[in-house]
Amino acid sequence: MNYKRSSALFEAAQKVIPGGVNSPVRAFTAVGGDPVFIERAEGAYLFDADGNKYIDYINSWGPMILGHAHKPVVDAIIEKTKMGTSFGTPTEIETKIAELAVKMVPNIDKIRFVNSGTEACMSAVRLARGYTSKEKIIKFAGCYHGHSDSFLIQAGSGAMTFGTPNSPGVTQGTAKDTLLAKYNDLKSVVELVESNSGEIACIILEPVAGNMGCIPPQNGFLEGLRRLCDENDILLIFDEVMTGFRLAPGGVQERLGVKADLVTFGKVIGGGLPVGAFAGRSGIMDYLAPIGPVYQAGTLSGNPLAMAAGLAMLTELDENRSIFESIDKKTAYLHMGMESVLKSNNVAHTINRIGSMISVHFSEQPVTDFESAAHGNNHLFKEFFRGMLDNGIYIAPSAFETWFITDALSYEDLDRTIAVVEKITRDF
Ligand SMILES: *Cc1c(COP(=O)(O)O)cnc(C)c1O
Repeated sequence: MNYKRSSALFEAAQKVIPGGVNSPVRAFTAVGGDPVFIERAEGAYLFDADGNKYIDYINSWGPMILGHAHKPVVDAIIEKTKMGTSFGTPTEIETKIAELAVKMVPNIDKIRFVNSGTEACMSAVRLARGYTSKEKIIKFAGCYHGHSDSFLIQAGSGAMTFGTPNSPGVTQGTAKDTLLAKYNDLKSVVELVESNSGEIACIILEPVAGNMGCIPPQNGFLEGLRRLCDENDILLIFDEVMTGFRLAPGGVQERLGVKADLVTFGKVIGGGLPVGAFAGRSGIMDYLAPIGPVYQAGTLSGNPLAMAAGLAMLTELDENRSIFESIDKKTAYLHMGMESVLKSNNVAHTINRIGSMISVHFSEQPVTDFESAAHGNNHLFKEFFRGMLDNGIYIAPSAFETWFITDALSYEDLDRTIAVVEKITRDF
């Protein structure tokens, strides 16, 4: 494959954009080489600036669950655009998407829209602090909740790939209010709650972790957190930015049957436009301005184009619920296929999967938390990534990312992917 034009574009970008990228996970720092610049995308495929075609397993890091340039979403955006792109007033479509989200997701009465997953998580934590009048929060090593200060403490993929688990610029004062627990280890949470008795406002987690590879919660973990929160007046926040409208119409709350007090969304809910949201019962959500004391705002929040894209996406998912079964089946097929070729090529590996989230780890140990995820063979991953890219398969340029499966993938695409995995791991 020829990447000449991408390399030239990257060269130019680096002169005017730090590192040439507007989000560090897009750089190829961990895998070597220049990032490929994408020109357009359609269905399950990306086309880069040199005309190369790839089967896409990133899907914009999650939103494109129905494939790129999905017609109902594109049409909705075009129609809305003709009517003006932002008014800074309420619009009817905000209520429409809110009604649909409240209908699809269990256990929420109200939802507030923002512009990114980062904003959603940041605002949910502020609301939890305001509501409980407590200051400390518990997060888990390897979970990512966006780049706001309180969360940049062992924050999974991006931070992990670049070796800056605690970013400069985050003050000691902020960091001391974020307590760190171990994923899938209820005991580590109980200890923190006991030693900070009466001070914890909320526990925030990815109920299925997706930012240290895909790590499902072990039996009883989420239920244990729910109990612990109830007993100690702590709010449980599910960060469903990745899992919401992906693992089930109602996300992990529905799929695994555990209730959260606040839920955050992003990615799929915006259909590929910049959208985030946080939601919960009225009793908590009405604590927000303008009717409550907790301030939260946004000039472009609920933007009509973003809402049109999100509404078209959620409507499709709501009306065609077999989509969830279909992507789960495709992901299982890919799982079995890769498992079988890695085994026959004698490559040490662990594949984690739940629904349409899957990750391949070059390690034989079970991957259940941040530590075991960090154990994988990065050198092998680098070779794997290169091999995949050079054979037209685009996966995330980091060993700590989940692959996002889109329903636009055909079984032919999956077979082709499995064949490439077989070919490039033959001499691993
Ligand atoms: C992507 C992600 C975020 C951050 O969302 P942005 O839109 O990138 O700000 C937060 N939490 C989780 C679980 C995510 O996967």
